[in-house]
Amino acid sequence: MNNGIRIRPARNAELPTLARLIENQLPDMMAGRKRPNNIEGHLASLIPDKSLILATRGNRLAGLTAIDLDHARILACYLDPETASPETPRELFKAVEQLALSFGIRRLECQVKKQVSGFIQSMGYSLAADHAEDKTPVLSKDLLEGADPELVALIKLQDELGIPADYGVRHRMCLQTEAKTLIPVGRDIFDRDQRLVPAAATAWTRLQTAASGHAIELKLVSAFRGVTYQANLFRRKLEHGQSIDEILAVSAPPGYSEHHSGQAIDVTTPGIKPLEQEFGETRAYRWLRSNAGIYGFKETYPRDNRHGIAWEPWHWRYHHRPGL
Ligand SMILES: [Zn+2]
Repeated sequence: MNNGIRIRPARNAELPTLARLIENQLPDMMAGRKRPNNIEGHLASLIPDKSLILATRGNRLAGLTAIDLDHARILACYLDPETASPETPRELFKAVEQLALSFGIRRLECQVKKQVSGFIQSMGYSLAADHAEDKTPVLSKDLLEGADPELVALIKLQDELGIPADYGVRHRMCLQTEAKTLIPVGRDIFDRDQRLVPAAATAWTRLQTAASGHAIELKLVSAFRGVTYQANLFRRKLEHGQSIDEILAVSAPPGYSEHHSGQAIDVTTPGIKPLEQEFGETRAYRWLRSNAGIYGFKETYPRDNRHGIAWEPWHWRYHHRPGL
């Protein structure tokens, strides 16, 4: 909240209105890019990654911005001069920078109109050294400067282990910071103590109880796993001569595992090998598909998922609002 302005990702239902506003020439701070023919379709492609960000005041639009994650570039920054506050462009830029950083983007670029170049530079962007005076200015900003130290540490760890810098963008996966408060949720099938954040722990107990009411036994294989644990797993595999590509084919890199959040669980049911796709053929899995959402759990990597990750029918993540 800032002067009654709220910054948030756009929703599908808003796209027709937003497309009309853009067509009606809301002033854009960016330059050097042709408007796509199908504006609404283009905006829709930004929704799954939350990379279309709005500033709203009540039910009025004050501004919007969008990012092309694949090219680490701000696509547009529109403002409605009547509704926006002087802080709105800064708030929009802050939101888009945080989003980019969450996907592991280190440097963000934008091609701006000459008259706003000074303003953009006041937000930490600088001109390329070989910038020609007669060209549209291309500015960029190092997102690691002044970023949350925990995110910076995660990115440095990726570099140290040799994980490709574009891993997050390529798989549309976000960096996961470690859960701070964890509570015990009993033992897993290997008799190890497991922990989750309190809300996920409660939801897991409810899920497991509901399943048992349908004669389905859900067992934990794994819950919270720290960044250090995952990093050591990686280091061991590297020492045993596996290549980064081989390791990444079966394990999420440290920093990108949802298990760091204390909200993800791997489950199985008796008679099924843990972490194998055969779990996807069980009655337990079919029950989860129909019912886990009621308890706030969602399958992160279903068959043919948009992350390009192999199907993981055993992996479920708790989301704060059920059914998300
Ligand atoms: Zn998992």
